[in-house]
Amino acid sequence: MPQTPIVYDAPTPEPRASTVEAIQAEILERLIYSVGKDPIVARPHDWLAATIMAVRDRVMDRWMESSRETWRTSHKRVYYLSLEFLIGRLMRDAMSNVGLIEPVRDALKNLNVDLGDLINLEPDAALGNGGLGRLAACFLESMSSVKIPAYGYGIRYVHGLFRQEMSEGWQVELPEDWLAHGNPWEFERRESAYEIGFGGHVEPVTDPDGEVRQEWRPNDHLLAVAYDTPIVGWRGARVNTLRLWSAQPIDPILLDKFNSGDHIGALAESARAEAITRVLYPADSTAAGQELRLRQEFFFSSASLQDIVRRHLQQYGDLGSLPDKVAIQLNDTHPAISIAELMRILVDDNGLKWAEAWKLCKGTFGYTNHTLLPEALESWPVALLERLLPRHMQIIYQINADVLAEARQRAKFTDSQIANVSLIDEAGGRRVRMGQLAFVGSHSINGVSALHTELMKQTVFSDLHKLYPDRINNKTNGITPRRWLMQCNPDLTKLITDTIGPEFLDDIELLRGLDAHAEDPTFQGQFAQVKRANKEKLARLIKDRLNIVVSPDAMFDVQIKRIHEYKRQLLNIIQAVALYDEIRAHPERDWVPRVKIFAGKAAPGYWNAKLIIKLINDVAKVINNDPAVRGLLKVVFLPNYNVSLAEVIVPAADLSEQISTAGMEASGTGNMKFMANGAITIGTMDGANVEMHKEVGADNIVIFGLTTEEVNEKRAQGETPRSAIEASPRLKEALESISSGVFSPDDPDRYRDLIGGLYDHDWFMVARDFDAYATAQAEVDAIWTDKARWNAMAIRNTARVGFFSSDRTIRQYAQDIWGVPAAAE
Ligand SMILES: *Cc1c(COP(=O)(O)O)cnc(C)c1O
Repeated sequence: MPQTPIVYDAPTPEPRASTVEAIQAEILERLIYSVGKDPIVARPHDWLAATIMAVRDRVMDRWMESSRETWRTSHKRVYYLSLEFLIGRLMRDAMSNVGLIEPVRDALKNLNVDLGDLINLEPDAALGNGGLGRLAACFLESMSSVKIPAYGYGIRYVHGLFRQEMSEGWQVELPEDWLAHGNPWEFERRESAYEIGFGGHVEPVTDPDGEVRQEWRPNDHLLAVAYDTPIVGWRGARVNTLRLWSAQPIDPILLDKFNSGDHIGALAESARAEAITRVLYPADSTAAGQELRLRQEFFFSSASLQDIVRRHLQQYGDLGSLPDKVAIQLNDTHPAISIAELMRILVDDNGLKWAEAWKLCKGTFGYTNHTLLPEALESWPVALLERLLPRHMQIIYQINADVLAEARQRAKFTDSQIANVSLIDEAGGRRVRMGQLAFVGSHSINGVSALHTELMKQTVFSDLHKLYPDRINNKTNGITPRRWLMQCNPDLTKLITDTIGPEFLDDIELLRGLDAHAEDPTFQGQFAQVKRANKEKLARLIKDRLNIVVSPDAMFDVQIKRIHEYKRQLLNIIQAVALYDEIRAHPERDWVPRVKIFAGKAAPGYWNAKLIIKLINDVAKVINNDPAVRGLLKVVFLPNYNVSLAEVIVPAADLSEQISTAGMEASGTGNMKFMANGAITIGTMDGANVEMHKEVGADNIVIFGLTTEEVNEKRAQGETPRSAIEASPRLKEALESISSGVFSPDDPDRYRDLIGGLYDHDWFMVARDFDAYATAQAEVDAIWTDKARWNAMAIRNTARVGFFSSDRTIRQYAQDIWGVPAAAE
């Protein structure tokens, strides 16, 4: 029987007024009664905390109403499981979505506090590495905006992604401390705590009715405690919950040990438990492979599953309706162990039959694949899983046996096909493949761009696709237009509103209306003026942080993203060197002034990525200080790339660099942010660039380089890059100057191996794409000199970005995968 202790019609306080006076009074009240500070002595962080609480209170009413409504209507809930949420700052987002920016600004002004200062003081919550974590954050906001009852589940890392500083041009990693001043957005829910087990053994037990069940007896336990953050949608449409788990010991201190004098040992268990949620693994696009990582994955999967099942039973009282009322989306394979955990909960804890449980499981889960890079596909040694999660290992073997039997009987698979679909990788020590587990346990497996989804069918999952041909589908990524247009670019938003009216704020496809103004000189002038003001702001930031002067008249050519060889920052910086050589050789030509702006973090153990950062800084030092360049080219590396820095750089970009080796970037979302803000893309036919090319039209994007098929052919042929280098004098000269130490006189051999790799195998096709890239850059220069043409192209990029709204992506997930209704525009 459903338990219904919920009183739906409990009286609630009056919603808070949002007048300047009311907000001002509440900020003061919060400062005194919640922060405990006299306004006379309050520090900026105190004002920030008080302001966040005043804003938060205006979100709370809608939060309560949203969850009450889901209980009342029995709507299906969506659970988005992700080891990363790269949410950034929340205050401006929340204020903007509930229309509070102006009243809060005025209220604070009356208190002699500047809202802009407070916005910049809020810590940037970097609980993710890059695109995958940022996607999860955009999805949360969109799910609230299109009114889907949803929860994000993840980990409350005490230290998010490391802070990046430069020391003589090298990256150094420092601990990040986003919780140092407390976090007024979160609510600790001590009542929502679950026991998480590890290790131990499995015991068959015979029930009174004679049935034999397996029972897991872990020998190691800790607690998962929930912390909830409200995520408010556009115009307060709905408020959903981001629930992050924190690990805590069951016994904070072992008193007997302490009393016998072992003070450290008395706290050891506590330290061991807390270690699980202490830091985010900083590896992007590589599997971390450490035992602690597996513990993190199981910890948050188990806590989330227990919470989901508890809530479902509380409302519906039976598990047979799970797929009708619950959709769980796995963001990559990091939470894939959830599939075995749900099976354990259903079969062992709740006594369901295996076949019935498996049906419920597949009906409930969906899996999103994010990468085809072999080094990023997660697998765990069988021995490790057996030791840490013995019952789950049994369950995985059972699932595997069922799948392989089906493959042999129904699909008549050959031995090599069986090896491909098996959950166990037999090559080089037996390992469990999490991708295969996630695939077979889900009814939907989606890629994140049209190209990526096709490649998924042809490569990693080719045989699983033959076995289950109706499971793979595509959901091209998106970005929330609230954060990535309206909030980060208020001047452009105002201009668009003045030009086509405010309706686009609620239906982003209406940006199309700007197409009609693309050729209008007056509008072009206004559009360019907004860009110019954003560039001035970025130029000031560059001056403040790096003491480099850049001219806002120059083209701002931007590549900001994680540093990775496949993303080819190396191609970009080699082209800068070639351009440097040409500018000096031909001072008489009309060079287009450019500022090449880079930002991005390298995984701490990724040597080549760190070396590329050093190279960018070495090249910058030489070029920026050479009088022969006459300021026509500047190179800038901005440290500590994160969401907040992106919000300043993206609106100021003229040119967006999306130049990954074709076939290697699953989608990209940075590309979409630039498009929204009227930058022109120079890019390869990779990831979502392919769809951008289609949406914006070939005339409004600059495409170059090898296609996926051509890359595959060259790799298969084992063709050497040497001929490409010999055929291109400008490439050859640039490579020789870098590898001979022109930019590293203190260590002339620093780049010898890095550049040597391009002559050797050049896996990422840097040498073989160079000439096409340099030619495309010359074309970009030519367009730049025709201002009317450039502006028209830029305007059309903004006008046609609608498809890349994460509202569209989420509506497609809702319709095709989750089976939940979503609000139309
Ligand atoms: C959007 C975003 C990314 C993803 O960028 P890509 O260019 O798609 O790799 C990474 N980090 C941050 C901080 C972002 O905002």
